[in-house]
Amino acid sequence: MTFSDAELDRYARHLVLREVGGAGQAALKAARVVVIGAGGIGSPALQYLAAAGVGTLVVIDDDTVDASNLQRQTLFGDADIGTAKVTAAAQALARINPHVTVEAVPTRIDAANAAALLAGADVVLDGCDNFATRLNVADAALAARIPLVSAAVGQFEGQLGVFRGWEAHLPCYRCFVGNDPARADASCADQGVLGALTGVMGSLAALETLRAIIGFGDDPAGKLLVADLLAFRFRTLALPKDPGCRCAG
Ligand SMILES: [Zn+2]
Repeated sequence: MTFSDAELDRYARHLVLREVGGAGQAALKAARVVVIGAGGIGSPALQYLAAAGVGTLVVIDDDTVDASNLQRQTLFGDADIGTAKVTAAAQALARINPHVTVEAVPTRIDAANAAALLAGADVVLDGCDNFATRLNVADAALAARIPLVSAAVGQFEGQLGVFRGWEAHLPCYRCFVGNDPARADASCADQGVLGALTGVMGSLAALETLRAIIGFGDDPAGKLLVADLLAFRFRTLALPKDPGCRCAG
């Protein structure tokens, strides 16, 4: 894979990193990343993934931009209110990096379509806002053996995990959350969320997506990063594989 002079200029700060370099940047360009939800987590994640030069970004969201999104969903501005989020996101990402292809999918992902929507992805980044969708995404990613980067926020707390549950000693998303699809979902609309927190967790999700593609540093799978930003604290917890889970065969 070759890069134009414009791309070499654009990615210069990646190319000088020993852990990224030309090979890592080429891996990013060749990569296809599916992002579930162009919301508070998806916005910064997509901005950084586009800026980083991920070759193909698939954005899945069936929502339109609402005024109440603008406090944290930094892809969008006032003029986007009422526009489909995936349409506004594709326009914003094209402004950030014209070398990236964005596929806008204005669909709600569910158990019936998840496998088709995730097909061919190198990484799935889930920043959606409801638990049922998270389970559908996680099941499809596990079945297709696609690394899942999962980020969630509420109020002042965030969680981030990377799941490759098909590997013998690593948990899947269900090992972490259990199996109850009716589990109460505390929504941002009900509970509130600090806008900048979604920026932190979305940016971390982008970083872990880049790590999954390039392969640098420590493997985050099997751990959960918890940000407690009322307390100015990050913690890392071990996430064991549940021997009774479907992923344990
Ligand atoms: Zn499992």
